[in-house]
Amino acid sequence: MAEDESQEFRLKVNSELRFEVEHKGTAEVEMVEGSAEMFGTELAKNKKYTFVSGSKVAIYTWHGCTLKLKGKTEVAYVSTETPMTVYVNTHAALEQMRSRADEDNTRGPRILVVGPTDVGKSTLCRLLTNYAVRLGRSPVLADIDVGQGNIGVPGTLGALVVERTADIEEGFFNTAPLVFHYGHKSPNDNFQLYNMLVLRLAEIINVRCEQSKKVNSSGVIINTAGWIRGAGYEAIKQAAGAFEVDVICVLDQERLYNQLKGDLPDFVKIVLLPKSGGVVERSQAIRADSRDSSIREYFYGLKNNLFPHTFDVKFNDVKIFKIGAPSLPESCLPLGMKNNDSQTKLVPLVPAMSLLHHVLSVSAATTVDHDIVETNVLGFLVVTSVDMDKSVFTVLSPSPRPLPQTILLVMDIQFMDIK
Ligand code: ATP
Repeated sequence: MAEDESQEFRLKVNSELRFEVEHKGTAEVEMVEGSAEMFGTELAKNKKYTFVSGSKVAIYTWHGCTLKLKGKTEVAYVSTETPMTVYVNTHAALEQMRSRADEDNTRGPRILVVGPTDVGKSTLCRLLTNYAVRLGRSPVLADIDVGQGNIGVPGTLGALVVERTADIEEGFFNTAPLVFHYGHKSPNDNFQLYNMLVLRLAEIINVRCEQSKKVNSSGVIINTAGWIRGAGYEAIKQAAGAFEVDVICVLDQERLYNQLKGDLPDFVKIVLLPKSGGVVERSQAIRADSRDSSIREYFYGLKNNLFPHTFDVKFNDVKIFKIGAPSLPESCLPLGMKNNDSQTKLVPLVPAMSLLHHVLSVSAATTVDHDIVETNVLGFLVVTSVDMDKSVFTVLSPSPRPLPQTILLVMDIQFMDIK
């Protein structure tokens, strides 16, 4: 579609407009009549919403609406085949569990959303969270998808208490999330550390739930990575145990559904849900691009509306670590130590050129005596240059100097700060 052309779509009951924004383009949507929602957030009438390059959007209506779409889109079509009724029924069942939890003063439902890649797991989590918030609930949204998660940057696991529906353009209001440094883009890169952090995240969510009756009865919605075979399946079972989930929503995978039914205790309800035909498959290259975009968004904002800072950090002013040491043959290990232990070991790093372009997490730990591996992080930096002669490196930072804390953790993940 040409940039300044505007198309009008009249949507009937239970249908959705799907479109993808062209690479480096933007598109604008306005609802001029009726009522509609995007992944559970209602659109305001006559308000123009702008979607950035690469966005894949579905605007759904329960009762019918008219939408105007303008800008650079790759595809734009209306579909009447959507799984929304099944999804809203799932929400209704969860809501009943929440009401019961309110009455009995117990814990609300904990839901793990699993399935292969590109089946709409993150979207379903967003929808269920939004629907809960619209009924006055404050659920915890946890994301343990370290590659394509929505809380923190790639290479992290995190959670936040959601009190407002997601913004149509920018997603959930992400001001004070709890985030842990993992450092890699796949759970498989350090399985031991990944499981340890999932357990830690679950522990802290439990503490948060104990502090608030409302959060406790609203429950927890957990998004996972699309890794479901072999160790990935083990990771799903571990997460189900760590979060003590009551419900597992399996998207579009009968095999996984049956496997989980056989392996998990009966009190865990396992439901098989269809995927939406609108969910777009993403290649490895698009996934890498989307990781890059989410790091860029952290520093520059979704619409380039943030202004990060650049400053020098002296090698001597910080302590840099990575988590996980190379594994040694069992025969070389000290008595009683297992190879697994090395995966979660904190390894001090001497600053070197190899830090260039790496993302660093700023740990909330104040001293090295803290359990740094299991301490949350405050924010992220990117190393944009290293001067070995002057013993300084330059960082891109969301806030001005000085750094909030001086213990830094290096990620495998890199980001090139080129506009
Ligand atoms: P991952 O493999 O990264 O875990 P996922 O299963 O979580 O992926 P989503 O991220 O929810 O999948 O969806 C993939 C893409 O499809 C997203 O960009 C999302 O906005 C888009 N999408 C989801 N539902 C629809 C729909 N009904 N119509 C059009 N696009 C959609």
